[in-house]
Amino acid sequence: MPRLPAAKSIGSSKLELVLGDITKETTDAIANAANSSLAGGGGVDGAIHRAGGPTIMEELRGRYHGCPTGQAVISGAGKLKAKYVIHAVGPRYAGRQQDAGLLTAAYQNSLELAVKHKAKTIAFPSISTGVYGYPLEEAALIALQTVRDYFLKHPEIELVRFVIFDELTYAAYQKALEKI
Ligand code: ADP
Repeated sequence: MPRLPAAKSIGSSKLELVLGDITKETTDAIANAANSSLAGGGGVDGAIHRAGGPTIMEELRGRYHGCPTGQAVISGAGKLKAKYVIHAVGPRYAGRQQDAGLLTAAYQNSLELAVKHKAKTIAFPSISTGVYGYPLEEAALIALQTVRDYFLKHPEIELVRFVIFDELTYAAYQKALEKI
């Protein structure tokens, strides 16, 4: 049986959790968990480039020379239904003091780009908790707290939807949603 979506209203904005594939999203923008070379890769990054087609990579190559950890860049979305892909570079977890700040910054800078491009609905994957190994519960709390805080400053964002790929990650985000 499909799991019911979880949601919370924060001011006039909505924060949602769903289990699914972010490449199918119809939000104005989807975020990608990219790496700092913006060269594509496995995980959600590979899935987005496969589903969106080569124009996304062509645009990235033409406009940017990589992207530092904690920052984000934006491109069109090729064949995807979304209008934009926001390529966010989360930290590779190493247990350093700055990891949390870098993960927070990756979400904040993505949201900044969304606002700048007037995207009102944005989907995020769970940045850094795949290959980059960020502990799930900590990362989920950082992700949801950062979005909640951002909503308070930018009520023009209507919806942020976390599109989570597996049950274990989804459970961590549900737990975090109860805490914020
Ligand atoms: P990172 O390198 O930032 O850890 P990964 O792509 O390895 O990025 O993993 C980030 C999260 O994205 C993981 O929870 C992974 O299961 C998830 N993921 C992989 N493919 C998809 C997809 N198509 N849609 C949404 N999430 C996905």
